[in-house]
Amino acid sequence: MDLIIKRMSQRISRRLIIQGLLGTSIPLSLGLIGKELIMNLNQTPSTTQMPVLFFAHGSPMLTLENNAFTKMLAKTGENLPIPKFILCISAHWESRGGTWVTGMDHPKTIHDFYGFPDELYAVEYPAPGSPTLAHQIQKEITSPTINIDENKWGLDHGTWTVLRHVYPKANIPVLQLSMDMSQPPEYHYRLGQALASLRKQGVLIIGSGNIVHNLRLVQWGKNAKPAAWAIEFDEWVKERLINRDDKSLVSDFLKTTAGQTSIPTPEHYLPLLYILGAAGPKDQAQFLYEGIDMSALSMRTVLFQG
Ligand code: ZN
Repeated sequence: MDLIIKRMSQRISRRLIIQGLLGTSIPLSLGLIGKELIMNLNQTPSTTQMPVLFFAHGSPMLTLENNAFTKMLAKTGENLPIPKFILCISAHWESRGGTWVTGMDHPKTIHDFYGFPDELYAVEYPAPGSPTLAHQIQKEITSPTINIDENKWGLDHGTWTVLRHVYPKANIPVLQLSMDMSQPPEYHYRLGQALASLRKQGVLIIGSGNIVHNLRLVQWGKNAKPAAWAIEFDEWVKERLINRDDKSLVSDFLKTTAGQTSIPTPEHYLPLLYILGAAGPKDQAQFLYEGIDMSALSMRTVLFQG
């Protein structure tokens, strides 16, 4: 299988690699060496404010697997306060020159990957959308302007491969927000801040990406060890999340060789900035899972709640 994928990867464009094809073509279980961490969720919050979450995602095959990471996802869904809506910022919806939110009643399941088993293309995540919430977001956030996407996007694999484990019934309305890649990191953080008020309205804001994501440097097979630069940057981020050094996380992530190697393109890191922005200054980071998969993918998953 490795050979087929490697041959296939030689033919695909860089764009497709960014979309998650090359490095995510190996089932997650081949290199999964991370660990679930003890969850300490506040199940009876004193306020109705929802927590915010940054989920790592691996191969799309994740959605069909049963391992320590997927068990953590399922447990998270069982322990969280039940949200009224979910708003996801996925690494796989990149836009330019504007930000969009999905506004259809029934967002389609997008299979935005290539070369996987038919079984994976048959997977659907039929969660409803919410045009009402989309229009509310558009109305409440005036800077930047939020555009409504009526029929182009839907739910991409950054969203549904994770949510199928967290909320398998697909009965909670899900919206996606695009990332305007023509904007600097501060824009994404500030937009996260602007979204924070939704938390009091029962909206669970989630980001789906990877803190370390270098598909060109993934190692195949069970014996792949975490790369030193990946560990260094993952720890750098961890420390700043604990200390809530948001400024460094927004401004300094490319200042070291380890950061540059971990984030060769920003789309998998930027969802973290939305979550950081949406987390209140008093919300503390709690790590639900950590580990470097296939040498070059951080599976670190973070929950913020007060
Ligand atoms: Zn991805």
